Amino acid sequence: MNSQAKPEIPILDLKPETESIWKDLMASMERVMRSGHFILGPEVDAFEKEVAAFLGVKHAIGLNSGTDALVIGLRALGVKPGDEVLSTPFTFFATAEAALSIGAKPTFVDIDPATLNIDARKLGKAVTSKTKAIIPVHLFGLPCEMDPILEVAAEHQIPVLEDVAQAFGATHRGRYCGAMGEAGAFSFFPSKNLGAFGDGGMVTTNDPEVARTTRILRAHGSEKKYHNEVVGYNSRLDELQAAVLRVKLRKIEAWNAGRRAAANRYTDELSKVPGIVVPAEPKHTIHVYHQYTIRTNTVPRDKLVQLLKQEGIGTMVYYPVPLHKLPVLANHKESYPESEKAAARVLSLPIGPFLPSSSQQRVIDAIRATTHVEAGTSVKQ
Ligand SMILES: *Cc1c(COP(=O)(O)O)cnc(C)c1O
Repeated sequence: MNSQAKPEIPILDLKPETESIWKDLMASMERVMRSGHFILGPEVDAFEKEVAAFLGVKHAIGLNSGTDALVIGLRALGVKPGDEVLSTPFTFFATAEAALSIGAKPTFVDIDPATLNIDARKLGKAVTSKTKAIIPVHLFGLPCEMDPILEVAAEHQIPVLEDVAQAFGATHRGRYCGAMGEAGAFSFFPSKNLGAFGDGGMVTTNDPEVARTTRILRAHGSEKKYHNEVVGYNSRLDELQAAVLRVKLRKIEAWNAGRRAAANRYTDELSKVPGIVVPAEPKHTIHVYHQYTIRTNTVPRDKLVQLLKQEGIGTMVYYPVPLHKLPVLANHKESYPESEKAAARVLSLPIGPFLPSSSQQRVIDAIRATTHVEAGTSVKQ
């Protein structure tokens, strides 16, 4: 095979998505540019109302990033310096960074190896008198098992802040992620399944006080301009980004369905390949496949990455280091073996609503071929 002749298949290609809505994007952006209104105006208002209606929540507040949504969400839920925030060690650093940045302490519960999400069965034991928030992360677009999480939270009267950065439109027992806990934190970073043309984020909640505090914190701690009550942030969603996101919000269900269709095809084909573990999709959940992440059980991951690269196929390891092993959390004494195992074995493949069928076939064929070569080689735990 001459791989030089074949086009590259990047892990993420946003261009076809943008092309498919080009006219609507241009009309929306022009409307904003001509309006002269760029920060917290009618587009942000409309986007907030549209997301709230979509998810079935009372309040949605547009912010500067998903990281800010976590920081502001935690503060709005009353988390203070010295408090503990319980979450998963197998996530993007921002989940724990949010707690650290307000002087709180991230504490962890290991993941369920079947879902790669926080293991709800272990949650109760990890709660202490200092635990003041729980952050379940709907990793890669798969909703956490929310019922037992919400039960533990209710029993100990601890608020739940869902990290929905990777799961816009995902559902668990018919309820949207971001509508199940006290609050939800969303990211509209361009690579997310609902992504802007820059940074953006959002807090969702049904609690009017949490909504009010979030609005105050995003605007320098002031409800009334120039009457600042607390130290807040400059964390506003721009009008241009909101206008772009409104166009994409109208497509999100179709795009998530496209991701699911591509994921189903991978799962059908790759579940037959020895040594490859395909993502789980537990009952009662709708996974939106922000990432399609396999685990390499007997095939050495580095080798697979290298062989796919030679075929022009881009992959990524989300995430190579669990949070408790990061230098910034070097004083963390606990170990979380399932998260460590996952970090050593996961591999995310190209996926998206516009992934061409022929490209996907090339990925499937390449994995089949490379794992065939490597079959029988075992990897140390
Ligand atoms: C992307 C991401 C964030 C942070 O969002 P930004 O908008 O990049 O600040 C937080 N948590 C998770 C799980 C993410 O994937």
